[in-house]
Amino acid sequence: MAHFRHFIGGTFTQGTSGRTFPKYRPSDGALIGHVHEGGRAEIDLAVQAARAAQKGPWAGLTVDDRSDLMRAVADGITRRFDDFVAAEMADTGQPRSMMEHAFIPRGAANFRIFADVVKNVATESFQTPTPDGRGALNYAIRKPKGVIGVICPWNAPLLLMTWKVAPALACGNSVIVKPSEETPGTATLLGEVMNDAGVPAGVYNVVHGFGPDSAGGYLTQHPGVDAITFTGETRTGTAIMQAAAHGLRDVSFELGGKNSAIVFADADLDVTLEALGRSVFLNCGQVCLGTERVLVERPLFEALVAGLKERAEALKPGATLGPLISAEHREKVLSYYAKAVAEGARVVTGGGVPTMPDELSGGHWVQPTIWTGLADEASVWNEEIFGPCCHIRPFDSEEEAIAVANATDYGLSAAIFTQDLSRAHRVAAEVDVGITWVNSWFLRDLRTPFGGTGHSGIGREGGVHSLEFYTELRNICVKL
Ligand code: NAD
Repeated sequence: MAHFRHFIGGTFTQGTSGRTFPKYRPSDGALIGHVHEGGRAEIDLAVQAARAAQKGPWAGLTVDDRSDLMRAVADGITRRFDDFVAAEMADTGQPRSMMEHAFIPRGAANFRIFADVVKNVATESFQTPTPDGRGALNYAIRKPKGVIGVICPWNAPLLLMTWKVAPALACGNSVIVKPSEETPGTATLLGEVMNDAGVPAGVYNVVHGFGPDSAGGYLTQHPGVDAITFTGETRTGTAIMQAAAHGLRDVSFELGGKNSAIVFADADLDVTLEALGRSVFLNCGQVCLGTERVLVERPLFEALVAGLKERAEALKPGATLGPLISAEHREKVLSYYAKAVAEGARVVTGGGVPTMPDELSGGHWVQPTIWTGLADEASVWNEEIFGPCCHIRPFDSEEEAIAVANATDYGLSAAIFTQDLSRAHRVAAEVDVGITWVNSWFLRDLRTPFGGTGHSGIGREGGVHSLEFYTELRNICVKL
């Protein structure tokens, strides 16, 4: 039976709270380990370790040294690839292929990209005229912010956590990670990799636990934490922002979404179905960028509904489709399945729980589900479900599609499918989201800005944009 301990000051520890909570495997409900719950005392220790690291050998490293260390961490993840795949599969229940081809390699890639970014970003300088004619020189330098609190969700644990930890460390900060209570595995394992790579003690810390009145809450309230980066639900972001207001600490938020795909009648149907097959069902629909609203120009409506139905029905729960993360989350998703019917949806496919073999019957399975026929006020058209489902709605004009796509408080991502290049650019500029894909979905270049508008987030991370959050830019003015 696994024991998930905190990682504080380079050492694994149970902490002093004496509390643990069980970790169950989502695919069959089996108990796979006990997680040590951190409280105020563990967060205090982690903050002390992280602050001490800011004054220790870590502070003396050059950018090149840190960049080399980030590469060593990436190599360490790659060397222990099978361990990371196994840990994440046990935590999330998702298929091996997705772990091997996407989620774990991205964990390593996050360290590699920021190893490059920090070495190659220039800062600005200005020559400033002065009345005496001699002038002045202004130039900027970047300094680490200090101790960063990193609070993570469960849906792509290593990928989302390293997307924050890698730039934070590359910029010279130290971090305290609070992984989701549902997915303690890979953050813990990364502690071993950090030690093997030679990252100084206290630079990377992990404290397990829950949100309010537990590790998450205490971390965000701790005055020794200089800034907080968070990925998770919009509601949680609101609570964290209130905590961060004490001491005026900076926040970077990647929050929920209710993302649209807009499919025009001239779209390549095969390309569209391939992308939608992933954007609706990947990770059992538990992707913040995932599509839950599909808008289709009327002439293509029937063909698209039929094509996506075929894709949904080809998915095999237990093989190509994983479970939902927890019994609680399944209850939430199934409550939306029921609401859709109550609000008048036509269920094109799915809508319930699949019959699973005995050994998987304790898992949190749901059927991939497609609805049509709902009004725009329907719950499943407006609220983030985070399950393998979508509602498909016809539209008759570009203006209507844009207006409907923008009729939400969220603004994370959109996908546009058309072969008309001018229209693609025009619509992409009008859809109020942080990230738009044209004729694709989740095609990521890690140098590009990532984040959402409205209720989907604050700030952008990725490439040089991450440096805006993880460093303080200081200006120095020299009178010549
Ligand atoms: P969540 O908000 O419930 O939990 C996220 C983390 O916050 C967990 O570690 C949790 O323990 C912690 N937490 C909860 N309450 C807290 C509090 N008051 N103070 C401090 N910490 C607290 O989110 P989740 O259910 O784990 O993840 C799913 C959500 O994340 C979805 O809404 C999804 O859209 C969003 N998400 C967004 C992105 C993005 O990039 N925009 C990426 C992935 C997931």
